[in-house]
Amino acid sequence: MISTLEKIPAAEFRIEDVRPGTKVRLELIVDSLPDGQPLVFSTVIVRGSHPGKTLLTTGGVHGDEYEGPVAIQDVFEELDPQSLHGTFAAIPILNTPAYTAATREGGWDHQNLARIFPGNPTGTMSERIANAFATYILGQSDFYADLHAGGNAYQIQRFAGYQILDSELNRLQRAAAIAWGFDLVWGTAALPGRSLSAARECGVPAIYVEMPGEGRCRPEDREMARQGLRNLLSFLTMLPGDFPTTPPEYCFETNSEGAGHLQIDHPSPASGLFVPAVTVWDSVEKGQTLGEIRHPNGSVLAKIPSQRAGRVLFLRTLPRVFAGDFLVFVLELPAR
Ligand SMILES: [Zn+2]
Repeated sequence: MISTLEKIPAAEFRIEDVRPGTKVRLELIVDSLPDGQPLVFSTVIVRGSHPGKTLLTTGGVHGDEYEGPVAIQDVFEELDPQSLHGTFAAIPILNTPAYTAATREGGWDHQNLARIFPGNPTGTMSERIANAFATYILGQSDFYADLHAGGNAYQIQRFAGYQILDSELNRLQRAAAIAWGFDLVWGTAALPGRSLSAARECGVPAIYVEMPGEGRCRPEDREMARQGLRNLLSFLTMLPGDFPTTPPEYCFETNSEGAGHLQIDHPSPASGLFVPAVTVWDSVEKGQTLGEIRHPNGSVLAKIPSQRAGRVLFLRTLPRVFAGDFLVFVLELPAR
């Protein structure tokens, strides 16, 4: 049986080795760093006294997203194993090298963990992290939720998303995304390399959520993420309690290739200062100016017309910008 604060090789970790009716904090050893210290997944488990499903959740796939990790810590703290059915298993910060650097990508290899799943056991540190998670952890769950946010440089409208599956699991994912409780639910065509792609390979239904970000963890965002996790636990019949079952006003699927890839829309044509003319969730028309790029001397280097009508889902709020950095994602809404 596993007791709290144990260090265990990730390859040897079994959720069923955690005693029912207990909470544990574990360090799952992924690899060794150049200084000989272990690279670990700091993991928290609440194993309920009653049988039930296993919800796995992660934050910190990107190292500059903080709402998810803190909400996971809050839920771990408040869950009572005596009343929980099944197991809440969570890794608040999956990508510790990126977290330590406070950057989106890995601090040493500069790889985006959300593009390289299922990783490689003999590859870079980021590839090893992806591999350890996909190989040893993910398959032990019945449902997976990956918690994201806008990160240091962007603000994003809250939404719950999923990769569209050609199976019965798709309905379950959609219902879970609705249950989370945000005002926007968006299913998109499957993209490779994501944690959700690895879940799909394991046959584990999954959702992801996006939260405002800007490198912050505001109290209201933390509370909404905490409530979302609790709603998901109720949806999975692990906790008593109600959860949203009615689709929100915006709940739809976009099954075109690349639709869920937010970081390619409206790339900056020049380096300089990005001065936005819109805020997140504004409605915009095609051709409307989303903002401009200025030279340090104030001259306007470029104006950014919207490529389509829709709502501003994702907006760069860090003004310093390099040519090619993405600026704004405009979400095309279905006709109503
Ligand atoms: Zn992210």
